[in-house]
Amino acid sequence: KVRVRFAPSPTGPLHIGGVRTALFNYLFAKKNQGDFILRIEDTDQNRYVEGAEQYIIDALNWCNIPYDEGPGKDGGFGPYRQSERKTIYKKYADILIETGKAYYAFDTSEKLEQHRKDHEEKGKTFIYNWHNRLKLDNSLTLQPDEVAKRIAAGEEYVIRFLTPADEKLVLNDIIRGTITIDTNVLDDKVLYKSDGMPTYHLANIVDDHLMEITHVIRGEEWLPSLALHKQLYDAFGWEAPQFAHLPLIMKPVGKGKLSKRDGEKLGFPVFPLNWNESIGYKESGYFPEAVVNFLALLGWNPGTEQELFSLAELTQLFSLERVNKSGARFDPDKTKWYNQHYLQEKNNQDLVPAFTTILQEKGILNTTTIKIEKVICLIKERATFVSDFWNLSDYFFVAPTSFDEKAVKKQWKEDTPALMQEVITLLEPLTDFSSASTETIVKEWITSSELSFGKVMPPLRLLIVGDMKGPHIFDILELIGKDETIARLKSGIS
Ligand code: GLU
Repeated sequence: KVRVRFAPSPTGPLHIGGVRTALFNYLFAKKNQGDFILRIEDTDQNRYVEGAEQYIIDALNWCNIPYDEGPGKDGGFGPYRQSERKTIYKKYADILIETGKAYYAFDTSEKLEQHRKDHEEKGKTFIYNWHNRLKLDNSLTLQPDEVAKRIAAGEEYVIRFLTPADEKLVLNDIIRGTITIDTNVLDDKVLYKSDGMPTYHLANIVDDHLMEITHVIRGEEWLPSLALHKQLYDAFGWEAPQFAHLPLIMKPVGKGKLSKRDGEKLGFPVFPLNWNESIGYKESGYFPEAVVNFLALLGWNPGTEQELFSLAELTQLFSLERVNKSGARFDPDKTKWYNQHYLQEKNNQDLVPAFTTILQEKGILNTTTIKIEKVICLIKERATFVSDFWNLSDYFFVAPTSFDEKAVKKQWKEDTPALMQEVITLLEPLTDFSSASTETIVKEWITSSELSFGKVMPPLRLLIVGDMKGPHIFDILELIGKDETIARLKSGIS
């Protein structure tokens, strides 16, 4: 059975790169009738941020990509927080020591720093490996009883992986194919520290194994760790999962990885939900469908021109083979395009509550749900967000307080007040104020009096709306009603 995991560290809010990783894991799991697991990688206590775990869970739920197994949803492989699995890792670090795949090292940070500096002065990079290892303070140069004594005395140590010299590692990645690495460029990475905490590498491998993860799908920034991870699986004698490293998400313009700062500079969200002062997609009025749709296409392609995909469709179509190697450029305008599309797909009725809240904030309290729904129906096609509704429709709820100057200059003639008075006279006796009824009356009058539409319709719209914008004018009249229509016309010519 396919089992994949999203393994964030709770160090702050998820950004869209993280959500994209979660989404691709989710899609891959669902496509293959597998399980999507959330594992919280919180071994680095210095970077732990209160509230981040709940934020991650809320963000996944908002995107409609909930996990099958994880904190609060036990699937028999828990606990799902690494801080609650501490005792597990020591055992595995010990196994590596016993089998000679790892060793203790007692170097002080001063000593390591000195080595780094010495190398730099000679224009070299310091790699903690076979080349330097023997000059440093590690158990490979110490007698076993000495090692035991120093540990017993409470001396600080780390356990490092013993990288073999002069080997060629052949690594496989579903997206990138075969990668060959010379072990001489690899560091002896720290796996375990004397504070009783494993590092990311050890905890990650042990958990992926114990949780029976079949595919590791994660961001490209983890590709450099693949060599170590593969060696760890081999060292334990475990079958490694398959790996797929997703391409970076690039800045909208210029070079480099998308960062939080790009969002601030260009004014688009980089987080799914609000986090402290930072704006999220949810709060900016994006629909989760839009976010999921644009994220899916950041690195994956369907092989066709199709751009619109529901989550259900994506779970049918997704495959890792169609994930690109090269970075995916993020386009904030496109995210808006998606939102506009999904806004049009919504039932008007479903948009009423959100718009009602905005109307209440604007002080519009005495209106009906039916009217709000009808207004939405008339203006929705011009909107990208529900928050656009007010500017597109305020004249349905309040009379215009100012009139577009250019339009006045162009449309307001000497005989306009008299014509508007005639419109008032026409409309006042009507009992049927439907759009069809007022339209027939006004148009028949224009035709029979041999007036031009251009003399009547623009000033009529101007007095009702305040400018020349908006949907069909007779639909507007019907919605604001007879009394309001007459009142606006009268005050316009007085
Ligand atoms: N904890 C790592 C992160 O924060 C997980 C990387 C991985 O998926 O292996 O992204």
